[in-house]
Amino acid sequence: APPAETYEYQAEVSRLMDLIVNSLYSNKEVFLRELISNASDALDKLRFLSVTQPELLKGGGDLDIRIQTDKDNGIINIIDSGIGMTRQELIDCLGTIAQSGTSKFLKALKDSKDAGSDTNLIGQFGVGFYSAFLVADRIVVSTKSPKSDKQYVWQGEVNASSYTIQEETDPEKLIPRGTRITLYLKRDDKGFAHPERIEKLVKNYSQFVSFPIYTWKEKGFTKEVEVDEDPAESKTDEQDEKTEKKKKTKTVVEKYWDWDLTNETQPIWLRNPKEVNTEDYNEFYKKTFNEYLDPLASSHFTTEGEVEFRSILYVPAVPPMGKDDIVNPKTKNIRLYVKRVFISDDFDGELFPRYLSFVKGVVDSNDLPLNVSREILQESRIVRIMRKRLVRKAFDMILGISMSENREDYEKFWENFGKHLKLGCIEDRENHKRIAPLLRFFSSQSEDVMISLDEYLENMKPEQKDIYYVASDSVTSASNTPFLEKLLEKDLEVLYLVDPIDEVAIQNLKSYKEKNFIDISKEDLDLGDKNEEKEKEIKQEYGQTCDWIKKRLGDKVASVQISNRLSSSPCVLVSGKFGWSANMERLMKAQTV
Ligand code: ADP
Ligand code: MG
Repeated sequence: APPAETYEYQAEVSRLMDLIVNSLYSNKEVFLRELISNASDALDKLRFLSVTQPELLKGGGDLDIRIQTDKDNGIINIIDSGIGMTRQELIDCLGTIAQSGTSKFLKALKDSKDAGSDTNLIGQFGVGFYSAFLVADRIVVSTKSPKSDKQYVWQGEVNASSYTIQEETDPEKLIPRGTRITLYLKRDDKGFAHPERIEKLVKNYSQFVSFPIYTWKEKGFTKEVEVDEDPAESKTDEQDEKTEKKKKTKTVVEKYWDWDLTNETQPIWLRNPKEVNTEDYNEFYKKTFNEYLDPLASSHFTTEGEVEFRSILYVPAVPPMGKDDIVNPKTKNIRLYVKRVFISDDFDGELFPRYLSFVKGVVDSNDLPLNVSREILQESRIVRIMRKRLVRKAFDMILGISMSENREDYEKFWENFGKHLKLGCIEDRENHKRIAPLLRFFSSQSEDVMISLDEYLENMKPEQKDIYYVASDSVTSASNTPFLEKLLEKDLEVLYLVDPIDEVAIQNLKSYKEKNFIDISKEDLDLGDKNEEKEKEIKQEYGQTCDWIKKRLGDKVASVQISNRLSSSPCVLVSGKFGWSANMERLMKAQTV
């Protein structure tokens, strides 16, 4: 056979391995979760490809994961019948850093070190393949990809800077497809090589893997065997006399080894919501989306009728890590399944509008073709209907948070995702009715706690027709604006729009429950207290003064008018009815420089 070739790890990999071994030593058992999740990913990939290439499944048996232990020698084998790896893939995947889980882990590690927080948190991250070195000092990966006609063996040792790859030569280890990972456990970790220990960990960590996981374990069944009767003993009491009439038997336990199904493979979204508790939903969320905090809310539903699908949606408790831009179209937030087969999590607005990309979830439909492509998704009427229903359900879920008895929940939501909803006012006219009740603003009568538009409406004066707002860059400067004077005097509440996006969002809404939004900094603000007689009088008296001021200011102002909106300031600069507000001008200026 060709000799083994030696390769150096990418520098980051060595660093990562050090970090894992040094920070997760109290969480060693995560290795099993990581290896099972890789096996499950590999099976997902194969199942997906086999939809269009059924020949991939030929001769390879079922799609499952098998774990076999040898407790005497401290060895664990994790075998999957998934997609396997080619020689090049071994180098790319196990010699260089993987992007997904691992980079998140590094970031979290840094954050938690900065914050001095508990490293236990990190145990909940996807730390990947190398976590196997927590318990093993030698790892052998024997793998066969359908793309290659050869099977390869990768071997690595803990604390080494290189690994080897060679062709598989042991005929007993040849497999038609998939991957077999063998862990040679460290002296102190041999205890993991017990079927009972493995079973317990699988039940704990991998209950949401949708492929069967089997453990190789010793089983027993009881058997009645006939025995010879010892007459002296049997006649001691009546009980024995009765049994004497039957045949004399003895129960013995027959032992044998076999594969035992260890996990529940029914996906959680197919279960009856009544039988699933919050903890299950939260676990599923954390496992599926690589999150370490429970979600803020979840919603599990089935829709019937025109299009049938099942879904669980979640609102995260924290904004996505390390992403400052509010809408990242590539968030992989929705996982689409067709008839339980994972299809894709790579969407760009097809299933959820971009502004709702913070909502995470799984969607499983029986109505889409298994070989659904990007193009089909974009054109499909079914997908359009699904999208509509998902969006509605998402809003219901958010509304639920807003009605929670615990006001803090919604404050937290708003802090994290308020901007997204405001963006929705701009991008999604169709859902204005659903978004508007969820908005929150400070106001002249509530400078510390944000209020909803409904709270504003309740607080309106009987004669008040409109919703008043003023845009500014902070609550303090909004509360000091002279535009407010008259309204404060009349005890009219004014919304403070202090987030740059607020004003555009409100202008897109135009009205709420038939009340128009009115910018109090615009000219001709009508507070419904016009006195025509008196205005005429004042105009005559001060008309010349206005003309004089206009002459002096020239082009700097559009016009000079007598106003009834002030009570203590002598004059105020207002914006034209159709022009930009001062706040918008400031924003536009900020954008052009
Ligand atoms: P991640 O799973 O987050 O990508 P890992 O470190 O867990 O990172 O795994 C690295 C890569 O190695 C995987 O992305 C996959 O391509 C490959 N891999 C690991 N285990 C298997 C397996 N059992 N079958 C096929 N490929 C695997
Ligand atoms: Mg992984």
